[in-house]
Amino acid sequence: MSRPRKLRRLYELPKTDYFKPRRVRLRDIETVTISPDELMAMKLVDLDGHDQEEAAKIMNISRKTLWTELTNARKKVVDAVFNGKALEISGGAFEVKYRVMHCRNCGYEWKEPFGTSAVECPKCDSKNVVRLR
Ligand SMILES: [Zn+2]
Repeated sequence: MSRPRKLRRLYELPKTDYFKPRRVRLRDIETVTISPDELMAMKLVDLDGHDQEEAAKIMNISRKTLWTELTNARKKVVDAVFNGKALEISGGAFEVKYRVMHCRNCGYEWKEPFGTSAVECPKCDSKNVVRLR
């Protein structure tokens, strides 16, 4: 019996679930499937600039698992982009959980992952922020 996969914790989902190179028909190309949690590992490290320790904490997984997901994600994305394949975002085992934060300085509201400390407003950099829910 295989061990049940621990749920990854995501604080938001990607804005789309499919990319395809233009001017080619879908039936003429291969599709690479990446899971939202693999993509989140890559986003947290490569786009948001978290180190792997922080990213693992945010996703509620071990550092080793984070590293595996990150490595898989990078391979899949570069394979799709470089080799002209479609990229489908689906599968995985995850839950979406986040905190809604409010800036008392400028009124901005945003979603913040669990596991992050020192929170600043992304719009005005104020530290005068509160958690709404
Ligand atoms: Zn603000």
